[in-house]
Amino acid sequence: MTEELVCSGCGAAIQTEDQNKAGYTPESALEKDIIICQRCFRLRHYNEVQDVELTHQDFSNKLHEIGNQKALIVKVVDIFDLEGSWISGFHRYTGNNDVVLIANKADLLPKSVNQNKVVQWLKKQAKDQGLTAKDVVLISASKNQGVEEAAQLIEKYRQGSDVFITGCTNVGKSTFLNQIIRLFSGEDDVPITTSHFPGTTLDIIEVMLEDGKHLIDTPGIINNRQLIHQMHSSDWKKMMPKKEIKPIIYQLQPGQTLFVGGFARLDFEEGERNSFVAYFANELKIHRTKLENADELMANHLGGMLSPPSPKSVEKLGKWKRYEFIIKKDKTDIVIAGLGWFSVPKKGAKVSIHVPEGTGVSLREAIV
Ligand code: GDP
Repeated sequence: MTEELVCSGCGAAIQTEDQNKAGYTPESALEKDIIICQRCFRLRHYNEVQDVELTHQDFSNKLHEIGNQKALIVKVVDIFDLEGSWISGFHRYTGNNDVVLIANKADLLPKSVNQNKVVQWLKKQAKDQGLTAKDVVLISASKNQGVEEAAQLIEKYRQGSDVFITGCTNVGKSTFLNQIIRLFSGEDDVPITTSHFPGTTLDIIEVMLEDGKHLIDTPGIINNRQLIHQMHSSDWKKMMPKKEIKPIIYQLQPGQTLFVGGFARLDFEEGERNSFVAYFANELKIHRTKLENADELMANHLGGMLSPPSPKSVEKLGKWKRYEFIIKKDKTDIVIAGLGWFSVPKKGAKVSIHVPEGTGVSLREAIV
């Protein structure tokens, strides 16, 4: 029997028949010592993503395997996009297994933020969502901060069993895993694909641990509430923050509007003068205007003065939807999944948020 070939980038089974399916590799590339599929090749060398069909059923089947065996489950979320990266109904996949929650991309939070408070806040969020985590840790996988602590927690709670690393696409699961492998192996050349593009971890990757158990990377789950899935790829990089977020405070009177690039719009409809603190990628320009002019501005300047998105994404984003809120508690965040949030210190404001249809909008207790 021949051994099955797998891509050393994403772990997908190598095949030479169908260019649109995972693991496609041209015959000529099979001669190489290290085989990587065409998709990973393009990602590595051209930073370009290739769409591969992977059905939702495939994801579900893989994830259901997890609940059926004794293992520690590590759930990785993006602290900057908790709503977009929180897998709802997660407990269905975990069975009776213990869960450690890792919130990644801590480097994006303003330095002034007290990280212990964020951890406490996260514990409360997890509990409110029905997730009982053994422990919660805040890390930055790309800056290698908190990774060692996370590794120690994993070692403490796995108690000799396998470890499944789970999470939505783009939370930094592969980056985290690469750091963990470096930590364990001291090697720098780690063959796991990471990228800016959602959906690149295609198949399960296993890393052997000292006791013969495994650290197992699972495919990223695509959460359609993430705005990123509705946009043209040329705009992904612009809306995803890469550096520490610099919050900007806007003192607003009712009757004023803030546009976040051309991705979202906040109308301050009624209430007393209030401040709105914007936490978005530094590249996204916030545009302040009068509420009475906002419709006209949107109709004529989306993709132009209000950009990103580029005109191509404007088309893809389609129709918009309006959500209305009354802020009932001091220190509330208005969250736009995948984009960022406005923090409102004082209760009482009536606010509406306009976003492309399908984008998650929610209120939560302020993170900072
Ligand atoms: P995966 O889809 O969950 O495996 O995510 P990747 O590891 O491919 O990372 C997705 C994106 O998030 C890439 O653009 C990474 O550079 C970025 N990323 C990963 N970890 C961090 C982090 O700790 N901080 C920041 N700011 N970005 C990160």
